[in-house]
Amino acid sequence: MKDTFKHKGLRQQLVNTIKKKGIKDKKVLAAIGKIPRHLFMDSGFIDHAYQDKAFPIAADQTISQPYTVAYQTELLQVQKGDKVLEIGTGSGYQAAVLIELGAKLYSIERQQELFKKTNKFLPKIGYVAKKLIFGDGYKGLPKEAPFDSIIVTAGAPFVPKPLLEQLKIGGRLVIPVGEDVQVMTLYIRKGEKEFEKHELGEFRFVPLLENKT
Ligand code: SAH
Repeated sequence: MKDTFKHKGLRQQLVNTIKKKGIKDKKVLAAIGKIPRHLFMDSGFIDHAYQDKAFPIAADQTISQPYTVAYQTELLQVQKGDKVLEIGTGSGYQAAVLIELGAKLYSIERQQELFKKTNKFLPKIGYVAKKLIFGDGYKGLPKEAPFDSIIVTAGAPFVPKPLLEQLKIGGRLVIPVGEDVQVMTLYIRKGEKEFEKHELGEFRFVPLLENKT
């Protein structure tokens, strides 16, 4: 599990690429510049780790494109100590970015194979989540609610109600919504029943799947 000068150099180029694509938040850029993305990928793909592309991980899933990770993270506006919920732990890369920004992170993954792998791997490289959960993200995590922000990293056919309900007042939900193509959508909770909704760019994610079994 090496992180060499070559990797660091490639990572800096990646930071420049996503900066050019419009990412401005200095803390987000610094996190992408720091986290060894190549360690989150299966060995065969290590050469591709610092291209701004999504890549396959285990269980037919993908590690999201760095630009997408940065874009969603920027929308969350994470402050140190925020309680954050992620749906779709996958490789744990997005989780590491959130932890690097100081989030107390809870993350749910429904594929057991990925859950087990990432649960072992993240602490090994120094990223410790509050809790990684094997379960169904459609339900959120009522036991730990409310959250300062919630991020969904798979394409949701609709916005699960529990996720809106588990936001603090002033909290933010960032969720790609749609079937084939998803519209990045930001909800800000303004009151008990009031939400402000912003529809942003188009993205492509693997689907948020309902009840496995
Ligand atoms: N955040 C990840 C992206 C992984 S892709 C990363 O940085 O690598 C999306 C992930 O969402 C996949 O791992 C998939 O298994 C998971 N997923 C799909 N449906 C889900 C659901 N209902 N609940 C929780 N996780 C889900």
